[in-house]
Amino acid sequence: MNTSDNRFICVPITETNPESFLSAILEASQLADVVELRLDYLSAQDRSSVIARLPALAANTVCKDLLLTFRPREQGGQQDLGLEDRQDFWRHLPAEVIAATRFVDFEFDLVERWNNRSPVPWEKVICSWHNFEQTPCDLLTRYDRMAATPAAVVKIATMANRISDCLKTFELIQYAKGKKPVIALAMSLAGVSTRILSLASGAMLTFGSLRKGAESAAGQITASDLKNLYRIKQLNSESEIFGIIGYPVGHSRSPLMHNTVLSLYGRNAAYLPFEAQDAGEFITDFVRPETKKFAWNLRGLSVTIPHKLTVIPYLDSVDSTAKAIGAVNTIVVEGGKLNGFNTDIVGAMKPLEELVEIRGRRVAVLGAGGSARAICYGLNQRGANTTIFARDMTKAAPLAEEFETKLQLLESFTGDFDIVINCTPIGMRHHSEGKSPLKAESLKNTALVYDLIYTPNATALLCNARKAGCQTLGGMSMLIGQAIEQLRLWIDLEVPFESMKEALEIQ
Ligand code: NAP
Repeated sequence: MNTSDNRFICVPITETNPESFLSAILEASQLADVVELRLDYLSAQDRSSVIARLPALAANTVCKDLLLTFRPREQGGQQDLGLEDRQDFWRHLPAEVIAATRFVDFEFDLVERWNNRSPVPWEKVICSWHNFEQTPCDLLTRYDRMAATPAAVVKIATMANRISDCLKTFELIQYAKGKKPVIALAMSLAGVSTRILSLASGAMLTFGSLRKGAESAAGQITASDLKNLYRIKQLNSESEIFGIIGYPVGHSRSPLMHNTVLSLYGRNAAYLPFEAQDAGEFITDFVRPETKKFAWNLRGLSVTIPHKLTVIPYLDSVDSTAKAIGAVNTIVVEGGKLNGFNTDIVGAMKPLEELVEIRGRRVAVLGAGGSARAICYGLNQRGANTTIFARDMTKAAPLAEEFETKLQLLESFTGDFDIVINCTPIGMRHHSEGKSPLKAESLKNTALVYDLIYTPNATALLCNARKAGCQTLGGMSMLIGQAIEQLRLWIDLEVPFESMKEALEIQ
């Protein structure tokens, strides 16, 4: 055994040509405890050539423990393989290859077919079952049936269609404690928490891809992130858990920022992405101490689109700022209570105030959505002279009325503002990158342009602003500012702006 404990990070090799397959095994060995050779990704000829070189490769001290898998399409594999094909494959595997291998994966039907006479010693066998449609309710019964076979380990991987499906996976891991070792995972983005927390909950192994794009199943994150960002092998039942709930959350930079900082400050903690369609269901099943179905030390949550409003009825208290703008982006779990806050305003205003005086200034706010609402509140509090510019006057009217601002059509913008703040997604990556809501000519009289968008850093609007000679501020400062405030609320941690910025720039 190359590993110091019995909890493994396993990297699947999904290369399709023999040379890259073999070199990927050594590359994966830098990160993994176990390397899974997905032999179904190779043609018959290439598979033979790789298998012939395995004993020598396994003897290399750099190479980690090997797991061999030859998966049929209906169980998530790359090839159409009948039961006979699979039996033949394993029967003809050379003895020295079996000797060089730590684990083999036999699908449940194959294990049943061997009827106790396996060509591979049972102590090496992981008995697996996959469901790519759903996470059924009978996982414990299925585990019992699989655990009753002579295989050494049971693996059950199912599709999470919603985040509450993860509860069945965690329940299975609990159930298997003290019984036969289990590998239990919920696939898809909704199941990511099982990939990160399964080892800490008691599972034997979790999978992480060699790199982005090399995943062998939906929702798999990189082994490097599992190990270095989420530090999954250091996590235990005491670990403080934080996370972001939203739908979708895959794009969020918050896990990178918060995990890096939590690690820097030596916290036994992790910050996870929770892709939840229904905020109420998530709060009930995972967060509220009286009703939650998963025992973990959850300390706090970030809340993002579309839950900033819908989460409010599920909280015990909402602070006055969050109440005034009607949006919660932070939940603190303390003393059995759920308290809501909004750190977006401090996050947005602080970097602006550091550059200019806001009181009495003529400020143009572009857009009238959620972030415009927070900005208008912040500007109002600070005595700015605000005008909202929107494409739909009827939609924007209630906001203008509430904060007593002027309202104009976005296309009628002609300048004459000290500060311009973009609260539309125009210019955002994957939306309309390269486009600007305003031309450089209309910014000639403006002192500062603030774009809330943070990907890309240099939006077309900020480029136009620089051309027009304005001072500029990008959305990264707001992202960092609101996160700093969240850590203060959750655990009273004071993180310097520069440390948070460095954390974001790691990738
Ligand atoms: P939102 O609630 O959807 O509001 C978007 C606003 O922009 C709406 O008023 C919308 O008008 C308007 N809009 C959208 N497309 C437009 C177009 N092509 N032309 C004119 N107006 C348009 O979104 P949000 O939450 O306020 O976010 C807005 C931007 O701020 C996003 O890019 C987001 O990434 C960024 N943001 C950054 C941070 C940070 O930490 N830096 C935080 C929050 C938000 P309609 O109502 O007519 O559709």
